Amino acid sequence: MTTNHLPGTAVSVPPSRHHGIYILDPSKRCEPNAYLFTKTINFFLLNGYRITNDIHACSTILVNSCCVSEDKIASSMGALDLARPYAGQKQVILLGCLATLPTPRLNREQLICIGPKELDKLDALFPHMTAISDISAHQLHHELYEPGQGLDRGDYFILIAQGCNNSCSYCNIKRSKGGVASEPVTAVLYRVRQGLDLGVREFTLIADDCGSYGHDIGSDFVSLLQQIFALAPDFTVKLLYLYPEYLQRRFEEMAQLFGSGRISYVHLPVQSGSQRLLGLMNRSYAIEKVIENIRIIRSTGARTTFCTHILVNFPTETMADFFASLELVDEFDDVIMLHYSDNQETAAAMVYPKVTPQEAEERLAIAAQYVNRHKNGHGFVIKNFDCTLPYGPQALPNEG
Ligand code: SF4
Repeated sequence: MTTNHLPGTAVSVPPSRHHGIYILDPSKRCEPNAYLFTKTINFFLLNGYRITNDIHACSTILVNSCCVSEDKIASSMGALDLARPYAGQKQVILLGCLATLPTPRLNREQLICIGPKELDKLDALFPHMTAISDISAHQLHHELYEPGQGLDRGDYFILIAQGCNNSCSYCNIKRSKGGVASEPVTAVLYRVRQGLDLGVREFTLIADDCGSYGHDIGSDFVSLLQQIFALAPDFTVKLLYLYPEYLQRRFEEMAQLFGSGRISYVHLPVQSGSQRLLGLMNRSYAIEKVIENIRIIRSTGARTTFCTHILVNFPTETMADFFASLELVDEFDDVIMLHYSDNQETAAAMVYPKVTPQEAEERLAIAAQYVNRHKNGHGFVIKNFDCTLPYGPQALPNEG
């Protein structure tokens, strides 16, 4: 059992199992984040801490944050504002991607910031019998997770890596998490074996980019999948997320794996149908090739649900670019079209001209009409990531 505190933290009241933990969680739609927060909450529950609804009575406030977009940063900052008045009397811990986002906008005074790759710090802060590294989070807590796009609260999640080896010009996740940090192959195989012993027959492998897996440990994603499938013949996997360039680069081996019928779901975030915009996004794949690859995989009879995200209104987007993106909608089983908005301090924020607000609204309206008519409930258009918004097919103002 450890009792020491992190050096340099301004905490006058020690954490107390009796007084308990108060949770502020404005981030529920990101699987890696929900996985890590579930793991954190399991750490407290398994070590005898109480979760309380009384912010006055608690000794620790957890704020789970997200920095994927400015609106998520704003709601995370809003949650932090609720907690800040208690800092000095209680521990206020900022978790999630905002905790390690290099931004001068976050006042870290009196906060304990624990980023997504830093959960081990909890061991040093809280007396415990079970270390955070020994805690599993395969079943996400329903209160901490809002699933979408073919995923479900009942999925059996395994986090295989965090961070990413790509450098998309708009991405705050990479800025927060940095390069890939992979779970050891043996650890992933152990978790799959554990699930198989429990009767699980579908596993949801999650990473910010599965294609980056193994780069830091002398392994790679194809090899991991092959070893996972070798464990038993009768289960499937879902893959979230897979950067399309990896499919292109390792197509022969990936096509075989898809052709086996054992990849039931893949999320390939293509982001745009315009090669010019993909260049401005710093995404290094030929969109035509990716679509050709998907068609080849489908022709093998692979029983895979293909999902994607597409950004609308990226800086300099023309109507021709927008329609090229709209054409991609029919290639996927489930599509989310997201309104692009600048993330401050990213390279994309410096790209001009921006799409005007009026043009942006028009494109979103066209996209919503198209998606509503063509995707039969398996696609939608969203203007921001706010958890309180409906997360389903929606009619924009001029939709009949
Ligand atoms: S692949 Fe995804 S996580 Fe990686 S930099 Fe690009 S948008 Fe960010």
